Amino acid sequence: TDQFVSPDYFALDELLTEEQKLIRESVRNYVKKEISPIIEDYAQKAEFPQQIVKQLGDLGCFGPTIPAEYGGGGLDYISYGLMMQELERGDSGVRSTASVQGSLVMFPIYEYGSEEQRHKYLPKLASGEWLGCFGLTEPDHGSNPAGMLTNIRDAGDHVILNGAKMWISNAPFSQVAVVWAKDEQGDIRGVIVERGMKGFSTPTTHGKWSLRASATGELVFDNVAVPKENILNVKGLKGPLSCLTRARYGIAWGSVGAAMDCYDTALRYSLERVQFDRPIGAFQLQQKKLAEMITEITKAQLLNWRLGVLMNEHKASPQQVSMAKRNGCEIAANIARDARQMLGGMGITGEYSIMRHMMNIESVITYEGTHDIHLLITGMDVTGLNAFK
Ligand code: FAD
Repeated sequence: TDQFVSPDYFALDELLTEEQKLIRESVRNYVKKEISPIIEDYAQKAEFPQQIVKQLGDLGCFGPTIPAEYGGGGLDYISYGLMMQELERGDSGVRSTASVQGSLVMFPIYEYGSEEQRHKYLPKLASGEWLGCFGLTEPDHGSNPAGMLTNIRDAGDHVILNGAKMWISNAPFSQVAVVWAKDEQGDIRGVIVERGMKGFSTPTTHGKWSLRASATGELVFDNVAVPKENILNVKGLKGPLSCLTRARYGIAWGSVGAAMDCYDTALRYSLERVQFDRPIGAFQLQQKKLAEMITEITKAQLLNWRLGVLMNEHKASPQQVSMAKRNGCEIAANIARDARQMLGGMGITGEYSIMRHMMNIESVITYEGTHDIHLLITGMDVTGLNAFK
């Protein structure tokens, strides 16, 4: 079995356009050539492979749905999903870099930015000349970002930004940060903060056992003077939430990519590894694992494809995106764990990708809304009752 042939048990390829298949092929080939051979090493060393920023830009993985006049790909949401699926087949950290750049940095600048802001930032972010990050989470406000303490105060032609953000992907290597902060009226506003502004620092977060090949850091603002032209034209939680909807959509596809790689690896191993004179794939217990994996992957592929159609038609609800994000993470976590067991002792080594995926998914299941939070979103949607507070 070729590891990079997508499981396609229900002939889903027939639902894809030629262009979508070509896009998938090009990202798949990139991952095969540039990511899979090096990523385990970077993860083991807990280092961010900085070269991927330019590569992902060249490949069109940054802001694929942003119009071409701003450097984006002008592509549809299924193409975007397929890109994220293939990147995460390589590593969740690589997909995270692309998700943050495209959905959490480029999208708000495109959607809520002035023409000047769009032209200043988007082409450089699309090409990978600049890397961006998105600061919403704070030390004391994760699932409840509305309680944030980071704030801006009016000071004439600029605002003064104070506060701190935590767990911010890409932060240590970013030139640009889209930061969410409360103004004097208590409204959440988005501000574009640039590296080099006085009082702004990005200390690196060390000691992660997950997403080790992705750089995570804090954003610390100590009386940072930010020009008013860097403020985005949106008020309230809807600003960051609209970005998260796009990124979560990418995670729904991406997590299934990680699951596919675990499944492919376990399937190949089960046909080669012989115990008791038979390939372990001949044992019913191992077949049960493989059969359930491919069933769950197939269901998730169908869910994602349909969600992509709804996204393209501007009909997808954030609640539908929550369900697909939660489902993708859940099946990826379960599949990674079963696949790891199928490899026995080899499953815990870096010779195979499974343990890395398994640890990565622990972040993916937590960020952009935890597993519990997405369940509560579905619960509230179907009952009309809010169980958050
Ligand atoms: P908490 O909110 O403290 O939650 C702790 C537990 O309580 C969870 O299990 C949660 O589900 C549960 N819980 C919370 N509220 C409720 C409730 N009402 N009912 C039931 N259970 C509840 N953030 C950014 O802004 N930008 C980034 O780029 C970014 N990158 C990240 C990268 C990594 C590797 C990680 C780990 C996180 C990243 N995050 C980022 C932060 C992430 O979004 C938060 O960790 C996440 O939202 C959860 O917040 P928390 O960690 O504070 O957990």
